[in-house]
Amino acid sequence: MPFSQPAVIRSRRVVLPDGERPADVLIRDGKIEQVAAYGSLLAGERPDADGGLTDLGDTALLPGLVDTHVHVNEPGRTEWEGFATATRAAAAGGVTTIIDMPLNSIPPTTTVEGLAVKRKVAEGQAWVDLGFWGGAVPGNVPDLAPLHEAGVFGFKSFLAPSGVDEFPHVEAADLEAALAEQARIGALAIIHAEDPAVLAAAPQQPGVHYRDFLASRPADAETAAVSHLLETARRTGARVHILHVSSAAVLPLLRRAREEGVRVTAETCPHYLTLAAEQVPDGDTAFKCCPPIRDETNRDRLWQALADGEFIAVVSDHSPSTPDLKLLLEYGGSGDFAAAWGGIASLQLGLPAVWTEARRRGHGLADVVRWMSAGPAELAGLTGVKGAIAPGCDADLVAFDPDGEFAVHAAGLHHRNPVTPYAGRTLTGAVRTTWLRGRAVDTAAEPFGRQLTRPAAAPTTPSDRPS
Ligand SMILES: [Zn+2]
Repeated sequence: MPFSQPAVIRSRRVVLPDGERPADVLIRDGKIEQVAAYGSLLAGERPDADGGLTDLGDTALLPGLVDTHVHVNEPGRTEWEGFATATRAAAAGGVTTIIDMPLNSIPPTTTVEGLAVKRKVAEGQAWVDLGFWGGAVPGNVPDLAPLHEAGVFGFKSFLAPSGVDEFPHVEAADLEAALAEQARIGALAIIHAEDPAVLAAAPQQPGVHYRDFLASRPADAETAAVSHLLETARRTGARVHILHVSSAAVLPLLRRAREEGVRVTAETCPHYLTLAAEQVPDGDTAFKCCPPIRDETNRDRLWQALADGEFIAVVSDHSPSTPDLKLLLEYGGSGDFAAAWGGIASLQLGLPAVWTEARRRGHGLADVVRWMSAGPAELAGLTGVKGAIAPGCDADLVAFDPDGEFAVHAAGLHHRNPVTPYAGRTLTGAVRTTWLRGRAVDTAAEPFGRQLTRPAAAPTTPSDRPS
């Protein structure tokens, strides 16, 4: 329903910044105007709210998720994933804002021209709101300030090869120069932290056995890279964010660095929290990503860190490719983990995947909202705009049935390619309706997502973590 008029959404389970309770939410002009006592609006108090009442009953109302880690791949590798397919999947999965990664598309977002190409291609194709990260690669220090000025949310760098030739990784001197410049302009540096020397020294045994792949990307690669990064951040004063932490062994390093005043945050991903190495079938390269999914003991430590507030965000790292590049057995591929494309497709499934496991571990919806909506909004400098059901925020909302069960059929997802490690699993938690700025998203109708730029006035330093 398009809420051109003021409207009310009512639920017995509204997830607000201070917890979950029954409430009425008044929406006007695409923004949340008021959060009021349950049943109080349209009962005389706000008779002007004539855009209608949607009563969700026991279905929960969440702020739309903010996914700051999505690889859309268009243009250049649109057959892997494009803006239309990615943003439809996002909306269907309760994600109302995505920030696109600067690589796997061609051109990469490492120049203002590259950003302009992406923005043009994305026009009219986005069912959710959409922002862009820039990339910091060897030699593009002079491009960082203009890109930042043009509204990218920060800059991604790889400390090890990225998997695509047009987005090279940074060596120590490049990293130093990039972080010094980002400290100068007040940008957020987001980093893929694996150490190439540790990876090169690890046993490289190709084949269908997941344990061989795991041995080829050891936890030491993460700890070595994070140590080096934190040293550089300390020297340059840059604000850094560690992407997709897979190994819990990096957590003590982050704690120590924070105590010493280094500005560092970290994220982890649904697959590290919900899947485990022990469960990966031989040859099932849908599970391949870098850094890799590790063992159950490590997974428990990631959950503990999440509960302790050590991660600012849980975001998808949605990074699909075509089935042939995944070398999937059912597509006639070799199932070789070493040669398959590394990346997991989960944009539409992150919320139910995390909720299924979170609930089992005794967490509530408010926790999931903090990790997947408010936290990533804070990371991106969008607090006050996205990530909360609070007056003044965009009315990006999700009707979510916390008890709804469904079986994952990869071909039934909006992702461009029917490949995901969650295929065949039963997940709990179903998205019923997604509203973007007060309007219900209909993926069969015209898209009305907007392109976002980094808010000029937004702080580039999220509040100290853990909170
Ligand atoms: Zn990624």
